[in-house]
Amino acid sequence: MVYTDTRDKSVKADFRTAVINGMNKETGGLYIPVSFPKLDTDFINKNPEPGFRDIAFRMAKPYVEGEIPDGDLLSIIGDAYPFSAPVVPLDPTSYVLELFHGPTCAFKDFGARFMARVMSYFNRNENSPLHILVATSGDTGSAVGSAFHNVPGLDVTILYPEGKISKIQEKQLSTFDGNVRALKVKGTFDDCQKLVKTAFTDEELRARLRLSSANSINISRLLPQSFYYMYSSLVVRNRAWGDSKIEEPAIIAVVPSGNFGNLTSGLIAREMGAPIAGFVAATNSNRTIPDWIATGDYNARPSVATLANAMDVGAPSNYERIAAMYSLDDVRRLFAAYWLDDEGIISSIKHCYEKTGYTIDPHGSVGWKAWYDIKTGAMEKLANGEKGDITKPGLTPNLPCWADKAVKKQAVGIILETAHPAKFGDTVKKATGSAPVIPGRLEQVMKLEDKAVPMENDYAAFKEWLLANLQA
Ligand SMILES: *Cc1c(COP(=O)(O)O)cnc(C)c1O
Repeated sequence: MVYTDTRDKSVKADFRTAVINGMNKETGGLYIPVSFPKLDTDFINKNPEPGFRDIAFRMAKPYVEGEIPDGDLLSIIGDAYPFSAPVVPLDPTSYVLELFHGPTCAFKDFGARFMARVMSYFNRNENSPLHILVATSGDTGSAVGSAFHNVPGLDVTILYPEGKISKIQEKQLSTFDGNVRALKVKGTFDDCQKLVKTAFTDEELRARLRLSSANSINISRLLPQSFYYMYSSLVVRNRAWGDSKIEEPAIIAVVPSGNFGNLTSGLIAREMGAPIAGFVAATNSNRTIPDWIATGDYNARPSVATLANAMDVGAPSNYERIAAMYSLDDVRRLFAAYWLDDEGIISSIKHCYEKTGYTIDPHGSVGWKAWYDIKTGAMEKLANGEKGDITKPGLTPNLPCWADKAVKKQAVGIILETAHPAKFGDTVKKATGSAPVIPGRLEQVMKLEDKAVPMENDYAAFKEWLLANLQA
């Protein structure tokens, strides 16, 4: 596969370059494949639907062609995904896609675990380790730490702001041994990010250590997230008639979003033939994308803190990919956009629990509420010309191409549940009155010893530490 760039279509790169570089330093753009090959229709039309890893292999294959042979790709996928993504029905036209069955109980495991193994593969003939530096405000650090732990040839240093992340998050990223370690920085997330960015531009340091990043703009994190869209849409297509008696329902993926990597992966799956009619882009009060869809003006802004904090992004980095792949009109045809404030998050966790018995996390609750509103008249109101106030929580005024299906009650929703509710136990308890059951792997990590190394918010000290502690 040839990769090009969101800012300069004359750029041509292979997969390895796109993965190792993360972004294109020359243009500042993000890598995207030049095409999204369709999966074989016989494969897509199989009933029962193929298994998750089978889908993963077929979907990944064209993107690594000529660079990773089939046998190696199979091992990468087998090793990355000892878990799957169950589809849980809530009612005849709503399903939850549980993306929290990986080691850190959040959907980022799907992207990070594939990326780690691909990077390790591309580093296999090097004599020195590739050092990954990550600054995190919480969730990315744990997914990356866990995904890279004990993966050969790779070494990870995570920086996080001391005292500014939750207890569970801190345990999830500071208790590793071996090739993954955490530095607790006396500063903010922005300070951590600045230390990392300074390191990347430090020629003297780079001459001593091979450095790379692992952030969510990396194409090797986006591609694997498309696997579960394909998988869940095939599962739902095969069971929807039995559940809902709707002949050919429009399948809508409802995506709680922050940086919009997850949603971009959904677009890739749709391009590859997944039977997805459209999307709901669901955000918290960081409503940069809903506002863009509503007004046509894209205005990045500082993020505001919310109860769905992994979505607290005011300048979503994958906007650039979406805008490179689709016109605004296309986006308005494909997406409904919806946003919800903190009060709405609490009440929708409660509402979901009371109506369905399902305990949903604060991120997923935004998706659940969006879908519930769409099913219970919000789309019909839009179709009748009643437009809400975009400064209030709710749907943006555009009518997607699947609006008619939604109004006729011929649409089914797949709500992406991006984290396990126990990771946000306090919020969930506040909403439902009971604390979610903590999965064994989270309980286990809470018992481990915290090994984070204290670090001043000072570049010279950070550099000295790196040089003294990392293997060249
Ligand atoms: C990262 C994250 C999101 C947002 O995903 P994007 O790809 O950034 O849109 C949503 N929910 C949870 C739990 C996350 O960790």
